[in-house]
Parts: sequence; structure tokens; C-alpha cells
Amino acid sequence: MAPRKKVFYRRKVCRFCTDKELVMDYKDAKVLKGFVTERGKIIPKRIYGTCATHQRQLTEAIKRARHLALIPYTGSIQY
Ligand SMILES: [Zn+2]
Repeated sequence: MAPRKKVFYRRKVCRFCTDKELVMDYKDAKVLKGFVTERGKIIPKRIYGTCATHQRQLTEAIKRARHLALIPYTGSIQY
């Protein structure tokens, strides 16, 4: 049985647009891990409200990080 997820109705703003300190870097697995599920899937932009531009960059960064084995393709994230 899948646990029910809480739904938050909050205005979503792109994190990368708001937070200038948050830099998208494929080498920075810590940041990227915040944008993938525990199964290693990229969290869709409708969840975080990431803008199209940054979502695209994020996808690229995650793909790169996966290639470098910084984050897993699937399965649980090892900390
Ligand atoms: Zn943005």
C-alpha cells in the first residue's frame, strides 16, 4: 500500500529564480539530490514549481551527475 502524500496548496516559485545562492551544478550532488526522489527520479516541475528554463537545466545537470555516478539512476540514494 502506497502511503498517501500530503498535498500542499502553496504558491510555488522557482527555487533557482528566487534563491540566487542556489547554484545548479552537476558536480553538486547535494543540491541535485534535493530534486530527485529517493528512487532517483527527477521531481516534476509541477511539484516544486521550477520554471521551464531551470527545470531544463536541472534535468541536464541530473543527467550529467548520473553519468558521473554522483546520483543513482534508480534505487535508493546512498548517503
Ligand atoms: Zn527559474
